[in-house]
Amino acid sequence: MNTATVEQRETKRDRGSFLASMRRERRRSPLSPGLAALLLAMAGCSGYDPGKLDIDRSIQAKSQSSRVDFIVLHYTSADNETSLRILSEGNVSSHYLITDHPRPRVYQLVDESRRAWHAGASSWYGRSGVNSGSIGVEVVNPGKRDETWSAYSPRQIATLATLLRDLISRHQVKPQNIVGHSDIAPQRKIDPGPLFPWKKLADEGIGRWYDEAAAQRYERDFQANGLPDAAWVQQELGRVGYEVPRSGLLDPATRNVIAAFQMRYRPELFDGMPDARTLAILKALP
Ligand SMILES: [Zn+2]
Repeated sequence: MNTATVEQRETKRDRGSFLASMRRERRRSPLSPGLAALLLAMAGCSGYDPGKLDIDRSIQAKSQSSRVDFIVLHYTSADNETSLRILSEGNVSSHYLITDHPRPRVYQLVDESRRAWHAGASSWYGRSGVNSGSIGVEVVNPGKRDETWSAYSPRQIATLATLLRDLISRHQVKPQNIVGHSDIAPQRKIDPGPLFPWKKLADEGIGRWYDEAAAQRYERDFQANGLPDAAWVQQELGRVGYEVPRSGLLDPATRNVIAAFQMRYRPELFDGMPDARTLAILKALP
């Protein structure tokens, strides 16, 4: 408990007991109405300074919740030193940064109650400007270099999992709201990339995954009876959170969203083509 709260409580008690004793005094020896009014006015005004706020925080409302609805995961595309410099001194930032040192360090660069600038133009379940309601976590990783990707170290992922468990429990973040930058900005972003271990985290109870048996059933059905049309694909991508055109066509923007979806749930192939396996996973995703 902080000292301000204690002081505020003391002040409140003192003022209360002073007024109570005055009332008791009044009962015992009635004062003239004029004198009583003067004394009461003095009691109310003593120490009162309208320029100085005296906020009582001793009572907290029962009805409240965290402002954090989403957790957004990124890679930095830079080494430890550069990542730290850009995220602390540049015009982008994140709440947390996990380095790729042999013993990964976790930096907190922005207080969780404040907005970090990590998401940019973004949307998830129709909520745009995801920065406002999210916590951003950057993981140091080189990203895509000459068409190849770098694996995350097991220790980075273990550290990240510990951080995520803490954030999820403190802010009550729903599994479907733990997202990659590529999920909320599929036209612009590809991080945290196809080597990010979404499945491994889901196996540990972190984030959303699909039911494999259901996916296999749907896949067989699509192979036997043909694939659903582009309008269905767009409808389903929207259902699971993505911002997607509703053109009824397999246009470039829709393919970008399919590729982002594949990178996360079927990373072996993320060409943006709606094959039976991709659509089966999509249908099976809660
Ligand atoms: Zn990012």
